[in-house]
Amino acid sequence: CGIVGVVGHGEAEGFIIEGLRRLEYRGYDSAGMGVIDKGGALHRLRATGKVQALADKVPAALGGSTAIGHTRWATHGAASDDNAHPHKAGRVLVVHNGIIENFKSLREGLAAQGRTFTSQTDTEVVAHLIDREMQAGSDPVAALKSVLPRLEGAFALGVMIDGETGFIMGARKGAPLIAGLGGNEGYLGSDPLALSGHASQIMFLDDGDMAVIRPGRIEVFDARGSAVTRKLVPAETSH
Ligand code: GLU
Repeated sequence: CGIVGVVGHGEAEGFIIEGLRRLEYRGYDSAGMGVIDKGGALHRLRATGKVQALADKVPAALGGSTAIGHTRWATHGAASDDNAHPHKAGRVLVVHNGIIENFKSLREGLAAQGRTFTSQTDTEVVAHLIDREMQAGSDPVAALKSVLPRLEGAFALGVMIDGETGFIMGARKGAPLIAGLGGNEGYLGSDPLALSGHASQIMFLDDGDMAVIRPGRIEVFDARGSAVTRKLVPAETSH
């Protein structure tokens, strides 16, 4: 299972497919991506089986600028297209590796507020929680920041917002996630291999960190929500 993301790219969908292929070694049962094309339209593409099945669903010449991708190893809900990530609520798209241990109580609370779910995953609550904060007036960064302390378990998250080509976000607690920069792009990935050949500098996030990744700039907040500085290191040129 793995996560990859990019902002500021000219062909984000190609980068995502390549990155997901490099993460195949981790094992998975389905794959998906969210991508904003050059006209600003969002595409959410998901497929059970191999990354190739996802690649076959990608429309030609999207010219994607912003995207997140995922390989899923199902823990909650069968391996199916509906359970494949990204999960979406309002304008919020989320990919997730790991387990949200308290998803049942979170889901009950959200359902009591009239929210409906389209998957059996533990992940879908995260998209709804972020969307709920945004509906209440929070910007996406503040929304994710306020949701993270409510999630129990070990996880890595990638988040993008429909209509937003300026940034993507990531967060990690007990699961690996790195950020990267290269050219005028910003990157997110489960490991350096996923970004190899694209990112010239990478940043290993600390446990509990959240990152806001913009073209050419990474902003990090620690588990307490304080702005922190993490080191950018040169990406290895070969593996
Ligand atoms: N728990 C999530 C699911 O079952 C994520 C699984 C994973 O790590 O890929 O959808």
